[in-house]
Amino acid sequence: MGFSLKLYNTLTREKAEFKPIDRQNVRMYVCGPTVYDYAHIGNARPVIVFDVLFRLLRHVYGENHVTYARNITDVDDKINARALRDHPGLPLNEAIRAVTEKTERQFHADVAELGCLEPTVEPRATDNIEQMIGIIDKLIANGHAYVAGGEVLFDTKSMRDYGRLSKRPLDEQQAGARVAVDAHKKNPGDFVLWKLSSHNEPGWESPWGRGRPGWHIECSAMSGRYLGEVFDIHGGGLDLIFPHHENEIAQSRCAHGTDVMANVWMHNGFVQVEGRKMSKSEGNFITIYDLLHTETFGGRKWPGDVLRLAMLMTHYREPIDFSVKRLEEAERLLSKWPAADPSGAAPCDTVLEALSDDLNTVAAVQALHALAQETQSDKALLPVFAASADLLGVLPQKTEIDEALASAVDALVAMRLELLKAKNFAEADKIRNELSEKGIQLKDGKDPVTGERVTTWEVKR
Ligand SMILES: [Zn+2]
Repeated sequence: MGFSLKLYNTLTREKAEFKPIDRQNVRMYVCGPTVYDYAHIGNARPVIVFDVLFRLLRHVYGENHVTYARNITDVDDKINARALRDHPGLPLNEAIRAVTEKTERQFHADVAELGCLEPTVEPRATDNIEQMIGIIDKLIANGHAYVAGGEVLFDTKSMRDYGRLSKRPLDEQQAGARVAVDAHKKNPGDFVLWKLSSHNEPGWESPWGRGRPGWHIECSAMSGRYLGEVFDIHGGGLDLIFPHHENEIAQSRCAHGTDVMANVWMHNGFVQVEGRKMSKSEGNFITIYDLLHTETFGGRKWPGDVLRLAMLMTHYREPIDFSVKRLEEAERLLSKWPAADPSGAAPCDTVLEALSDDLNTVAAVQALHALAQETQSDKALLPVFAASADLLGVLPQKTEIDEALASAVDALVAMRLELLKAKNFAEADKIRNELSEKGIQLKDGKDPVTGERVTTWEVKR
């Protein structure tokens, strides 16, 4: 590729050329879901955004030269609460497993329908407890953590440049802290690495007693294990910058003695619904599942590729307003795009160039649409279109329809044309409607040479 990949880095507040630590193994970590409830449309955004980046990196560095890790947080007090509520009769461990397995399955089904590739590794927090204990041990040994009040806490004052990512100096955080300072904390900003568990809470044996990890330490442990002490890109939603990512950085850097945890930090913007902040109390809290499979949003179901394209029609760093109008717009665009096979073609330069400019999916979608229009007069461009659409993960699927069925439809279409010629519109409409009910859409047009009516058909999305 003749142009360079530029990414905006929250750490430096600048857009700069991306230079991987190792071109043979480009490493990216994105914070994954806490599995206790259906994923909502706000959760879908980072999954889609970083899927596009994953696809782009694979294109640039080669499919087998990118490692993408996205974790599953399967230990959390919200999970415990849900397990106790939903499975009061079960022993706690079984109840927790019931909640996390069901939620994880649903999450995978949801994001697959949104056209997202599976990450290279998807570690679970509970499979990495040993690694977390190892990091906490190191932090205590080198004076960055202490035991107090049944907890192991990170000492934020022990880190000279704590707060670099969020640009919040420690003093400012303390001055602004409205929460009452827990008496056992040395500094108000100190956060939990490990806490003791009571008998009705899940727990693991540790040097500090039977307990469970804090949230932040999970990501430090899993990224360290799968991507190394310093890796290329760390991603997530804007709401994770503080405290989650700030604290991940503090833990990893202080445990490993490194200057950075990841070189590039990328954050996607917030998601609103119909112009309002999404919240359960506002009643506009929509899950991916509801959008795909129920009629709660705009009175209808929405296909996964429409949701995905709607998401990519705004730059990832901008806030996005998720609305019926936006979904309809995405659907209109998609309906004009041809189904095609990339068959080894390279994506077009304008789409690549747009994506290489800090993932400018807005420009990429525009370029893709222009290309789709060009394919109407130049069929040779179809594979290029398909390869470009695939880079965004919005490749229209060719619906497989068997030949016998296809020729039956052709016969009905021909019959309808005869009826139209004979001005028997009632019968002609009957055929159109019957086909429509079976999901087949007819399109009438004129032959540019003879001027005669021609009808084509397609399987409706
Ligand atoms: Zn994380």
